[in-house]
Amino acid sequence: MSTRCNLYHCLQNNYELQYYLCKNVTHKTLICKYRISAHDLQIEKGRYSNIQRSNRLCKFCNCDEIEDEFHALLVCPSYKYIREKYIEKFYWLKPSMYKLELLLKSTNIKTLNNLGRYLYLMLQKKNKLL
Ligand SMILES: [Zn+2]
Repeated sequence: MSTRCNLYHCLQNNYELQYYLCKNVTHKTLICKYRISAHDLQIEKGRYSNIQRSNRLCKFCNCDEIEDEFHALLVCPSYKYIREKYIEKFYWLKPSMYKLELLLKSTNIKTLNNLGRYLYLMLQKKNKLL
C-alpha cells in the first residue's frame, strides 16, 4: 500500500456510507478533502512536483517537518491560536496519529463543526501568508 493512502485506510475501517454531520457545506467539504488527502498540503502538492517525500516541508513554520495532515492539524505553531480555539486540547496535547485518526473519524457534531471551522481558518491564514 502506498504511503499516500495510509491515513485514508486508517479512517476507513468500515465500508458504510460516511455521514458528515456538520451543516456548513464549505466546512463539510474541507473535512472530506482532508479525510481523502485531497488538500493542498505539501505532502500532496509535492507528489505532483516530484519532490522527495522528506523534502515536502511546511512553509509556514520553522519546524522542518513534513506538512501533512498530522502537522497541519495538531502540530504546526502557525495555527496554534486557531487550534486552541477550535480543536479540543486532548487532540493536540501530546499529539499522535491515533488522536488524528480519532479527530477525523469523530461523529460528534460539535467536534466536526469546530474541525470544519479550524480547517477553514487555517486555509484563510495560509492564503494570507503566501
Ligand atoms: Zn508548520
